[in-house]
Amino acid sequence: MKIHEYQAKNLLKNYGITIQDGEVVEREEDIESAIDSVSKRLNTSQFVIKAQIHAGGRGKGGGVKFSPNKESAIKNAKEILGMQLKTHQTTEEGQLVRKILITEAIDIAKEYYVAITLDRSTGKNVFMVSLEGGVEIEEVAAKTPEKIIKVHVDPAIGLRSFQALKLASALELSGDALKQGVKLFKSLYKCYIESDASIAEINPLVLTEQNELNALDAKFNFDGNALYRQKDILDMRDTNEEDPTEVEADKYHLNYIKLDGNVGCMVNGAGLAMATMDIIKLKGGDPANFLDVGGGANVETVKNGFKIILSDSNVKAVLINIFGGIVRCDRVANGIIQAVKELDLNIPVVVRLAGTNADLAKSLLESEQLDIIAAQSLEEAAQKVVDAATKTSVMH
Ligand code: ADP
Ligand code: MG
Repeated sequence: MKIHEYQAKNLLKNYGITIQDGEVVEREEDIESAIDSVSKRLNTSQFVIKAQIHAGGRGKGGGVKFSPNKESAIKNAKEILGMQLKTHQTTEEGQLVRKILITEAIDIAKEYYVAITLDRSTGKNVFMVSLEGGVEIEEVAAKTPEKIIKVHVDPAIGLRSFQALKLASALELSGDALKQGVKLFKSLYKCYIESDASIAEINPLVLTEQNELNALDAKFNFDGNALYRQKDILDMRDTNEEDPTEVEADKYHLNYIKLDGNVGCMVNGAGLAMATMDIIKLKGGDPANFLDVGGGANVETVKNGFKIILSDSNVKAVLINIFGGIVRCDRVANGIIQAVKELDLNIPVVVRLAGTNADLAKSLLESEQLDIIAAQSLEEAAQKVVDAATKTSVMH
């Protein structure tokens, strides 16, 4: 789960990290009073207006604007609030800006990159820092990865003081800023662990002209499996920023991830789902989604899964690939039958059912005389669905 910049900064602030502060506005009529209040509270007459969307790269897309006085801040705020912001991380249409952050302008001397995430290959947390922070960090990572310094932290031991010092030194901090840096890395580590984050990123962390470290931008990802014990974090969820089909799938406890292809997949078990996607690719097709209906799939789950797959207009054919282990194939067949009857189905559906009660399932599907393409093996099913998707794409 992701959160907005202003929420991420509140979290950092709770851990004693200095942030570029400001106020959030959702309605145009509140802009002016919020600017006045930021001006008074933070003693500033220059502002930066920042679009609050979950995607990064807002600056380059026109969603972060420096405003040297109140008038320009009002103008920029009005422009950004309600805009359709396109960045390299949004879809083609961009993302509607529903909230803006009105912040104090800061005199920046240096911009650093700071992040911590889990390194699965070593089973440790890894801090990454760079002197080349700011909006070009992706390019730094791609072209000059040696400019990103890494420090691995054993989760059983935690961040040691010498490691915090190493990170602060890598940013060439000295004097009081060095002390601030050491403290900041310790606080960030604590925050990352205690919030069950999977990524915490400050980009840029800036050194101000007054020699103070300040978190100018912040991003967090949280481990979805830990949200049950992170009520405060879960309260920050903004489903407006998430893919609507994924939000819908979440309601039914379906593991659904939308992808770019045109072959809808309904599979039970994550491993089988991955294998199904692989074989679709192998046959020259492209999966439209990952969907694991789970081991305990029933009529309802199958029906809801089907609905979600079909709500994606890119889908030109669907492959249902179920192995009946715990779930019985006849139950799945009943789900398919109900879904097909309820939904206005106008694309081909390939069904491969194997395992417990597969024969019963087959006769159920046959007796309903549904327009379904049956397949025995996974390979055959994949070939049939890819052919069907290609045909439908040509026809439409
Ligand atoms: P994003 O990463 O989504 O583009 P940021 O909040 O990191 O958004 O802002 C992008 C860039 O805008 C920063 O790297 C910084 O150079 C500049 N910027 C942001 N806030 C200020 C500020 N208060 N004063 C000067 N420059 C700023
Ligand atoms: Mg940034």
